[in-house]
Amino acid sequence: ALTIGIVGLPNVGKSTLFNALTRNNVLAANYPFATIEPNVGIVGVPDKRLDRLAELFSSAKTIPATVTFVDIAGIVRGASEGQGLGNKFLANIREADAICQVIRAFTDPDVVHVDGKVEPASDIETINTELILADLQTIENALPRLVKEARMQKDRAATVAAVEKARDILNEGTTIFASGVDREPLRELHLLTAKPFLYVFNLDDDELADDELKARLSALVAPAEAVFLDAKLEAELSELPPDEALELLQSTGQEESGLDLLARVGFETLGLQTYLTAGPKEARAWTIPKGATAPEAAGVIHTDFQRGFIKAEIVSYDDLVDAGSMAEAKSRGRVRMEGKDYVMADGDVVEFRFNV
Ligand code: GDP
Repeated sequence: ALTIGIVGLPNVGKSTLFNALTRNNVLAANYPFATIEPNVGIVGVPDKRLDRLAELFSSAKTIPATVTFVDIAGIVRGASEGQGLGNKFLANIREADAICQVIRAFTDPDVVHVDGKVEPASDIETINTELILADLQTIENALPRLVKEARMQKDRAATVAAVEKARDILNEGTTIFASGVDREPLRELHLLTAKPFLYVFNLDDDELADDELKARLSALVAPAEAVFLDAKLEAELSELPPDEALELLQSTGQEESGLDLLARVGFETLGLQTYLTAGPKEARAWTIPKGATAPEAAGVIHTDFQRGFIKAEIVSYDDLVDAGSMAEAKSRGRVRMEGKDYVMADGDVVEFRFNV
């Protein structure tokens, strides 16, 4: 599964957030025999559509899509110089498919800030600088070889040009992700800042409703998505029974917990989407990359489904709910038969036909 690495300076609330995430662990419920590493948290992506489908199909249970977070300890200034924890930190980050930076915005004077002051913009710069320096190092190491290859193979010249452009972008202090440059020709270098970024701002609870502050922080990290939450509050919420958690949440003026929001935004940041299946046993969301075809989607359920794919019977979630039943959706002509070239849309409700 694709993973999101959680990084941040010390004392910003990473552990608090991560512990709350793992308390919401859905894996234990659905896959009781799976073992997971202590620094991995697999959380459900909240999806109201599943409850509605479960009603329509009298499903015994619902199974949401999941998103996997990995707690990556140890960013320190100088990480890019490969000292101490630095090397391990960079190796862990390289394995993640997206990077979630936790940034402290809460002011609590009892919690010491590593740099002595709470200043989100400067913390973001500190982390990005380490990642940028590591990428520049990667490029300096790779360029002589790439240039040599380009002398022998004409088609490598475009790669060299793209890598040189990336070096210029990084030298200006911009991440590859934020630059919006085409990442495809850079793929082979596995640059850290070419991964999708996502930011979590850990706020005081009374800042959660401060739209001006949130707009200012969002602007710091655009085009990356920003999630605003209070990690301490999330930790409390994760320990309460659902009804009490909802009450506490609403008392802070929020509709949705920060963890739920983070799961949804994280899923999106990874470039994933879901399709749905429903029957008496379960209503379930399945994870596919955006752009996946019907046979690829079938393969997520079982490789045999992909190999023996014949066609997919598909109705959009909205059409199905409008119709109120599968039979009515059919009589309205809303249920389509799609072949192997069909590109899945988010929220397709699907039944696959296949040869075994
Ligand atoms: P980490 O070093 O980034 O993993 O940070 P921790 O999660 O260990 O948190 C460091 C300290 O900050 C702990 O004493 C937490 O209780 C406190 N803390 C974490 N999140 C918040 C928050 O949202 N508000 C306040 N006031 N304190 C927090």
